[in-house]
Amino acid sequence: MPTNKKSALKKESLVKDIKKDIKEKVKEKKKRETFQSVKGIREILPEEEFWWDKFEKAVKKTAQFYNFRRIETGIVEQAGLFEKSLGDEVVNKEMFFLKSGGGKWVLRPEGTAPTARAYLQYGFSKLTQPVKLYYFGPMFRYENPQAGRYRQFYQAGFEIIGGENDAIFDAQTILGAWRFFEYVGLKDVEMKLNSIGCRSCRINITKRLVNYFKSKKKKLCKDCDRRLVENPLRILDCKKEECKEVAEGAPIFLDGLCSQCRIHFKNVLEYLEELKISYEIDNTLVRGLDYYNRTVFDFFYKGGEGKKLAIGGGGRYDYLMEMIGGRPTPACGFSLGVERVIEALKDKKGDMGEKKRSSVFFIHVGEVAKKRGLCLIEELRSAGIQVVESLSKSSLSKQLKLADKAKVELALIFGQKEVYEESVIIKNLKNGIQEVVPISKMVNQVKKKIK
Ligand code: AMP
Repeated sequence: MPTNKKSALKKESLVKDIKKDIKEKVKEKKKRETFQSVKGIREILPEEEFWWDKFEKAVKKTAQFYNFRRIETGIVEQAGLFEKSLGDEVVNKEMFFLKSGGGKWVLRPEGTAPTARAYLQYGFSKLTQPVKLYYFGPMFRYENPQAGRYRQFYQAGFEIIGGENDAIFDAQTILGAWRFFEYVGLKDVEMKLNSIGCRSCRINITKRLVNYFKSKKKKLCKDCDRRLVENPLRILDCKKEECKEVAEGAPIFLDGLCSQCRIHFKNVLEYLEELKISYEIDNTLVRGLDYYNRTVFDFFYKGGEGKKLAIGGGGRYDYLMEMIGGRPTPACGFSLGVERVIEALKDKKGDMGEKKRSSVFFIHVGEVAKKRGLCLIEELRSAGIQVVESLSKSSLSKQLKLADKAKVELALIFGQKEVYEESVIIKNLKNGIQEVVPISKMVNQVKKKIK
């Protein structure tokens, strides 16, 4: 066979082998099925721990100062609870229904209705009124996951239930949110406020709105065309530009309030002024849920480059208890979107999630040092010193690299010589200065250096 032909054949068989190899690799990859988190579910990763802690601490501090007590209701609720209280828009579009077991259950989309349900179920009306409760947990909405809108997200909420429908409680609710923003370190918060009146004002206002929207029907989006018949108030809530424009010219709620609702709102504003809490009245603010009446408000974070984030909101919900089978019970509250508040905090201060946490990295050299090291680490820990180690690694350079990554200031180096001399090297990783100290003085010396 001529050499040319021989080498061509060789090439051909080589290509065949490579192709076969690739095919097998693809097959193998297919066999190793891997899983991803479900679309729209945002998970909390270790580097975010700092922010979540910060949020939770501010929630607790607010609760302690204003005497709110914690309640954590179940994540799964009877669908009826929300069907009765939230309105068709949310129920039909945003709820996660669970079908197993023949019951009609849902993953809770918000925390107020469950808290009200618990108030009834556990007879909280027998306690001194109002009852102040707070919660912190995951909520689920079948949203179209886009920037900042998740299908599982966390909310912290504060509710004042029972007592009188005094405007002082609306103001105290808002004050609670204001203090939270202060404790968590968020200054650039803007509050929008409105009153949507009571049932009788609502009839009056709805009539005026329907007349107005009918005259602008052509400009409304498809959804709002439907809302015009089903729930005209929600047209004011539509996020589409064309509808927002129409909403701007709509008749305003405040003009349609009855005298009692008008007085209530005036009192809320006076209290806020007394408390020096700034607000902006937004005539288009309705908040989407059926259970709200009178005062409603939303909080926004305003960052650089026109960044605007809805970080929370709330209002009065005097009719909710009746809607879910209880007696008329005045109530008001607010909830905060945890991921959104964290996003705002990050936007403000840059990512501090990688903040230094551990104080000391323990480095060992050799088997004997590894064994003795176990006890030294425990001695440090019981003295309240945070220690990071990597006892499974034997190489000194690898351990030093890890110490660098852990962003610790001090490394403790413990090798054969130190075992023999009952000493340890304390090295400052920032300036490279190191000293040898006896083991008996290790804890004290480390404590002095990490102060
Ligand atoms: P709402 O219960 O709709 O009034 O929402 C209160 C706050 O929760 C909002 O201002 C947002 O900060 C947050 N929030 C609501 N829906 C979502 C979502 N799908 N994903 C993330 N955060 C949300």
